[in-house]
Amino acid sequence: MINLKKIYKYYDNKYERTYILKNVNLDVAEGDFVSVMGPSGAGKSTLLNIIGLLDDPNEGEYFFLDQPAHQLNEKKKVDFHRHHVGFIFQAFHLIEEMTVYENIETPLFYKGMKKKERQAVIADLLDRFNMVAKKDLFPQQLSGGQQQLVGIARAIAGKPKLLLADEPTGNLHHDQGKMIMDLLKKLNDEGMTIIQVTHNQEFANYGKRIIRLTDGEIEEEIANS
Ligand code: ADP
Ligand code: ADP
Repeated sequence: MINLKKIYKYYDNKYERTYILKNVNLDVAEGDFVSVMGPSGAGKSTLLNIIGLLDDPNEGEYFFLDQPAHQLNEKKKVDFHRHHVGFIFQAFHLIEEMTVYENIETPLFYKGMKKKERQAVIADLLDRFNMVAKKDLFPQQLSGGQQQLVGIARAIAGKPKLLLADEPTGNLHHDQGKMIMDLLKKLNDEGMTIIQVTHNQEFANYGKRIIRLTDGEIEEEIANS
């Protein structure tokens, strides 16, 4: 599903070149659950953004769903991202002026889904996540764990093939973090491919594989199941 070949990412200033990712090679199969660990500044978010087609490598080849992402034009990339990738974030990134319902609806709206169909999809998600009674609340009225549930509902509403999670439990208390990880595990069991960045070893162990990134290089891969 994901094949990264000799990926380099760097930034140039007048005098020097700073490498963020160096010779990253990574294959992720459909149905996999990968945890990416490593110190702050190692390039984890950059890697996730490249995989999610939100950023481009300077060198190397990236095949996503057998398509050469490094050769796709911007429009095609945005389209691919929209249809096949869900993203969740440490700080949730919900729209504060929108209710729970409206937040989940946004990507479905941009996908061009009809109102009746949107209603059905959202009703299912609210029901599944036990959030029916919260649908008209705003993000600020929810606990952190509930906000992340909304983030996940929004990310998976369009049934993407890939879910990317950048420190999804980083802003949560342990119990709420565990609740979110149990949900990600369930989604993976149902077939969703997941790549998460985490600093938490307990939560990294939810992955089938653990990758350690240091100074932009994949340092080791630990089998984990
Ligand atoms: P991590 O997620 O592992 O903390 P990031 O991928 O966020 O690491 O960042 C890796 C490094 O890339 C950091 O040192 C960061 O400062 C640097 N970086 C990120 N974006 C830019 C940019 N636009 N210009 C220069 N350096 C950047
Ligand atoms: P936690 O202790 O898990 O952080 P909170 O104290 O943030 O949880 O919220 C507990 C419950 O109260 C949640 O179900 C949340 O939806 C509800 N809640 C919090 N603030 C408001 C509010 N301003 N209006 C309505 N419900 C609220």
